[in-house]
Amino acid sequence: MELLDIGINLTHDSYTDERAAVIERASAAGVTQLIVTGATLASSAAALELARAHPRRLYATAGVHPHHAAELTAGHTPQLRALLAEPAVVAAGECGLDYFRDYSPRAAQRSAFALQLKLAAECGKPLFLHQRDAHADFTAALREHAAALRAGALHGVAHCFTGGEDELATYLDMGLHIGITGWICDERRGQHLQQLVRRIPAGRLLLETDGPYLLPRDLRPRPHSRRNEPAFLAHIAAVVARLRGESLRDCAAHTTAAARALFGIPALAGGSGD
Ligand SMILES: [Zn+2]
Repeated sequence: MELLDIGINLTHDSYTDERAAVIERASAAGVTQLIVTGATLASSAAALELARAHPRRLYATAGVHPHHAAELTAGHTPQLRALLAEPAVVAAGECGLDYFRDYSPRAAQRSAFALQLKLAAECGKPLFLHQRDAHADFTAALREHAAALRAGALHGVAHCFTGGEDELATYLDMGLHIGITGWICDERRGQHLQQLVRRIPAGRLLLETDGPYLLPRDLRPRPHSRRNEPAFLAHIAAVVARLRGESLRDCAAHTTAAARALFGIPALAGGSGD
């Protein structure tokens, strides 16, 4: 079995001095490839550095999260464009809109998102999208972007999907992939997702930990650190497989294949033979 964690914030401080061990534990658990999330220009550069240090196992995204949108100005465009041109950078983002926290003013969020949609179109890389409490503005921006591309379907993932039935249907109609995290393991707030996950067609479903955040609530034993890490993707995959009525092996196979196809990531040489 091979799994690919499409969203791990491995540049986060909580992993400092332990990154090699975290990558090793992931591999031992079957999580053989990771996409390290970039959320600011600095963390995107750091994610790229990690990817370069672990070729074929680690990849990076480059973007500015809506929380940091106010920090992104037109002057940063060349820097972001250069990051996106790197072969180890496999997606544009994390970008999008977050009206739940509103850490950056909404106007700044919308313009940072529009800029990144434009850069993604230029480099032809898929989007790594974040959306919270901003569904209408988010889908409007994506529709405008798709129209400009003259493409029927969008190329990207709605990462850490926690929305409802209508939101899911809209994203699937738009052609997006859906990223499911350990949120689904939460017996309270993940309940609706436990119903919805079986409606995501194989080929469009991707798995992610979003570590160090979102430690699966039903994970036993609980790590003392309470920190999530990519090795725990195996647990999330087992929960998702059970909810979809699939074997873990099938679920791992189709989610990993879908991630590799979307992000253009080759299988590891030799694979796991499994
Ligand atoms: Zn996010």
